[in-house]
Amino acid sequence: MKAIIAKNSGYCFGVKRALEITENVLEKYKNKNISVFSMGQIIHNRGVIEDLKTRGLEVVENENDIIPGSVFIVRSHGMSPRFLKKLKLKGVIIIDTSCPFVKRAQAKAKLISKKGYHLVIIGNKDHPEVMSEMEHANTSDLTVIETPEELHKVKKHVKIGVIMQTTQIKSNSKAIIAGLLDKASQILIENTICRVTENRQDVTGRLSKNVDVMLIVGGKNSANTAHLASIARQYNSRSYHIETYKEINRSWFGPADTTVGVSGGASTPQKDISDVKYYIENFKF
Ligand code: SF4
Repeated sequence: MKAIIAKNSGYCFGVKRALEITENVLEKYKNKNISVFSMGQIIHNRGVIEDLKTRGLEVVENENDIIPGSVFIVRSHGMSPRFLKKLKLKGVIIIDTSCPFVKRAQAKAKLISKKGYHLVIIGNKDHPEVMSEMEHANTSDLTVIETPEELHKVKKHVKIGVIMQTTQIKSNSKAIIAGLLDKASQILIENTICRVTENRQDVTGRLSKNVDVMLIVGGKNSANTAHLASIARQYNSRSYHIETYKEINRSWFGPADTTVGVSGGASTPQKDISDVKYYIENFKF
């Protein structure tokens, strides 16, 4: 079988940038007896995080574990400003790797609420990025919804302003925005879906239509990878989300299959994608 890799699969520029900064920081503080912390995963990929841990990164889940005088890395998808303020007061050095697209969405959230609009964020309310956008908005006059089925949660308002989690699926956002037309006479829409995500979703959708089997490679906890998998399933029922080639199941393929599409999320290392390609092209029935 031939493996066709979707264009631009793997690390996006925001993730590359976050990893480069993190690696440089770990190198700088390596032998200085200064701890370098992150809260949760800097990017949603277990293999990469394990590698960073071997180089000295301490991944914690509790704010109290971050000691005064240490270094703290803000992940690519942003963090709560209140939380960072507390760390600064503790004497912690903050290194911010937030992606510029996420910063833009945070700034738009703030601006929309400042202008007196009811803010609607299209995204997952438990995702760190959305939580950071909510905090930047600094208002209780907001609603977070992820699907058109949740539109009933948005009450009627005079003015509604909308932003989207950067990794949202465009068609889902369009359906929600259509539903919002019944909720307000004025609607301000800020398209904060990142261009990289949008492009990757289009390419993955197109490839899925034209292959026998489609494999999406990347962390199961990565929002953008999960969205790619959902798009692939819309076009090809034989689409599977895997973290590495080791999860590939032989029963997914038949002797008549000739092409397998492979796409990777923004936090998927190139090696994980190449391993899948190698596996497919050396597959024997
Ligand atoms: S997916 Fe987009 S928003 Fe997220 S880190 Fe990459 S470039 Fe930035």
